[in-house]
Amino acid sequence: MASAFHTADAPRASDYTRCIRCGLCLNACPTFRVLGEELDSPRGRIYQIAQADAGRLPLSDGLRLHLDQCLVCRACETACPSGVPYGAIIERARADMRATRPLPPWQRWLMESLLPNPGRLAFAARVLRIYQRSGLQKLARASGLLRALRLADAERFSPVIDGPPFPHRGQTFPAHGTRRARVIFIPGCAQNALLPGLNHATVRVLRQHGCEVVVPEGFGCCGALHTHAGLRDFARQLARTNIAALEGTIKEIGADAVISNASGCGAALKEYGELFDHEPEWQERARRFSARVQDATEFLDALGLRRELLRPIAAVATYQDPCHLAHAQHVRQAPRRLLAAIPGLELREMERSDQCCGSAGIYNLQQPAIAQSLLADREIVIAATGASLIVTANPGCMLQLARAAGPGQAVRHVLEMLDRSAGDNSRLERE
Ligand code: SF4
Ligand code: SF4
Repeated sequence: MASAFHTADAPRASDYTRCIRCGLCLNACPTFRVLGEELDSPRGRIYQIAQADAGRLPLSDGLRLHLDQCLVCRACETACPSGVPYGAIIERARADMRATRPLPPWQRWLMESLLPNPGRLAFAARVLRIYQRSGLQKLARASGLLRALRLADAERFSPVIDGPPFPHRGQTFPAHGTRRARVIFIPGCAQNALLPGLNHATVRVLRQHGCEVVVPEGFGCCGALHTHAGLRDFARQLARTNIAALEGTIKEIGADAVISNASGCGAALKEYGELFDHEPEWQERARRFSARVQDATEFLDALGLRRELLRPIAAVATYQDPCHLAHAQHVRQAPRRLLAAIPGLELREMERSDQCCGSAGIYNLQQPAIAQSLLADREIVIAATGASLIVTANPGCMLQLARAAGPGQAVRHVLEMLDRSAGDNSRLERE
């Protein structure tokens, strides 16, 4: 029978036939834990994809729902003894489905018009900031208007904007003291508008520990959300632009690394080659580029901190592993070692610290009920630690976990903790 998939991006049999249906991934899967359905487990989704590819199952609304309910957290990859590349399978299945079943218009607009456009993102962040600070937010919430317009969920998840966008594209910041490395820092797209303070902190920390930091021009949205959602053509377009924008600079300055402080972006940048399996020349360029990419925590841990800079933070912290750092990039110990280097900071592990918090890109907007259930679980395990600081290493997780923080609790990125420990909270532009 003919496959239900039609495009060159369809899932590869060589990937999904690696599944031996052992079921060891089931309990690691957040959607299986919440929904209790085999069809919403990794094994169940792989089975449905294999059946569709064999022409025994149509690409129905039911199948689409089960595939769209996946977080693409890749916890199943960590649990799998057969090395099934689940992320590639689900992303390819979604890409093929999108050919006949496009995303809702608001999601297309977000991914194709807003995220790749820094000007629009900055404008949107400014409007959101005014809305939050002017009292309009309180008014809108109290009036019931948001519920009437079906915007209540989206509004509830909107982050508190902590300043104007990080403005330093095209600049080079010298290392403090003797230069130990030369790095390119990718400020990201949405995070740059929504959490600019984190980018300031990242550049400061890299410089303090001896890195010259180049913030490049011409590098835009990495395409991670597009790849997860199945918009692979658009993701390829973004990847080509980004690779072309940076490969010259990497060579010219002899960059030691291309640094990201967002784990979803970092994972996508490390896996650019996956997008080009039908374009060998671009695949080669993508792989050369990806070989330079490192998460900020991974890089600093390997470089070694200047410990004399770190002053005590007397607090109890707990660390939430971002899915795309732990399961996709396999970086687990580096953030913990960096936190352990801060004098006075006690790190208490929460239960299942690598279970998704429900953020997963824009999953909390697409599937708010499941995302809320996952967040509620995080609230319980975080509260059990007694920590006042919830630390993570990804902007999306920070925004989601902020909603789980109780009174007296704060959410921080590992880089913000190092920044605070070094005691320098001034903005770059004031230096
Ligand atoms: S990616 Fe996450 S949500 Fe999706 S099947 Fe794997 S473990 Fe479950
Ligand atoms: S653990 Fe791996 S091999 Fe076993 S059912 Fe899950 S995906 Fe298949």
